[in-house]
Amino acid sequence: MSKPATMRQMPQIAHVDVNCFYASAERAFDPSLEGKPVVVLSNNDGCAVTRSPEAKALGIPLGEPWFKLAPRAREWGLVALSSNYELYGDISARVMELLGRYSAWLEVYSIDEAFLGVKGTPEELLDLGRTTKAAVRRNVGVPVCVGIAGTKTLAKLANKWAKNNPAFDGVCHWDSVPAADRESLMRRLSVIEIWGVASRLTKRLNGLGIHSILDLSRADPVMIRDRFSVVMMRTVLELQGTPCIPMEEERIGRDQLIFSRSFATPITTAAGMRQVMSVYGQQASARLAKHGLQAKVLTAFAGTSHFNPKDTSYPSVCVPLPMPTADPVLLTRAAHAFLPHINEGIRYARAGIMVTDLRPTGNQAPLSLFENPHEERHVGTLLEDVTRRYGRGSIGLGHAGIRGGPDWTMKRDMLSPRYTTHWDELPLVKAA
Ligand SMILES: [Mg+2]
Repeated sequence: MSKPATMRQMPQIAHVDVNCFYASAERAFDPSLEGKPVVVLSNNDGCAVTRSPEAKALGIPLGEPWFKLAPRAREWGLVALSSNYELYGDISARVMELLGRYSAWLEVYSIDEAFLGVKGTPEELLDLGRTTKAAVRRNVGVPVCVGIAGTKTLAKLANKWAKNNPAFDGVCHWDSVPAADRESLMRRLSVIEIWGVASRLTKRLNGLGIHSILDLSRADPVMIRDRFSVVMMRTVLELQGTPCIPMEEERIGRDQLIFSRSFATPITTAAGMRQVMSVYGQQASARLAKHGLQAKVLTAFAGTSHFNPKDTSYPSVCVPLPMPTADPVLLTRAAHAFLPHINEGIRYARAGIMVTDLRPTGNQAPLSLFENPHEERHVGTLLEDVTRRYGRGSIGLGHAGIRGGPDWTMKRDMLSPRYTTHWDELPLVKAA
């Protein structure tokens, strides 16, 4: 029996995620990597942080140290690459900008994932998912999968399913799948496979008889809130179909830190955006320092409101930093490099920055030539002190152009060219 038209037009959420992002970004510019097992290594060529499906098929575990893989690389035909965050940041910016054209609202969730607000009949939603997937492949050159559902949690689950079951061909609309199949999937998957459930909580959940995602979806949300947290209760509600996960302002992932929020009043000028970017630059600085990290690449982005489908705009830019840093002056300057991409008069309802290529502070002794004078003078601490005392926004940093510095020396023996951000490293096309 078909549902009433109003039900069928319910707003839904599409979760778009690039498959094996770092390996796919490398393949976009080096087609010889297609079909080969590829691993991308962490900083200093330490261990495998991304594996292509062929590398996974070889049984290479995530995080496997390179020194263990190297002796067998030739026999396997395994290609290892140093992480090229400048390339990944730029590809990410391109994917997000493109996705913004397919939806009136977009939330950048991580370097290779976004949530999009979508509407339509099940057929239209599936169509939109397929169109988006094809467009990212064609225009940016990386493969994505799309999961569409009524909540973010279910959209992420649908995406995972689309990735693992070839029958979906990369696009899964949750509500279009027969209920019995959805149940059987949720019964097969352990609770830790769901977004938002930390693996350390598995034992406690199991103690309550909650083993599978299906068990969790049938749990009493209030009991879950009382025994665990509001966060876990939201997961239960989302599994039951009630959207309740808001956009979070700050997220730290395995290899990235994101600050993003929507504004009560849209930003319409570069001057307004400069202030926002300064705040983010300083927040990122404080957060990096708190976690004992430095970043080497910054991506900045903004977007228009989903309530205003006219004049949509989702500009983004990727900025390599002159050295690994948590310095507020350098981070703010880098974020300001975004300003020329702002169209005056457009009503930006959301903006954010993402810092990547993270590494522990003080891992390498800086050569005096590259020492950062701001870190020396404790500008970061000063800014934090003033902010603590006089409130957020009481002190800010001026703006200036970013001066390109020498690239930071680090072990990166297998680094691909920065195809999209350096003129002298552009990919070459040979005419026959
Ligand atoms: Mg991904």
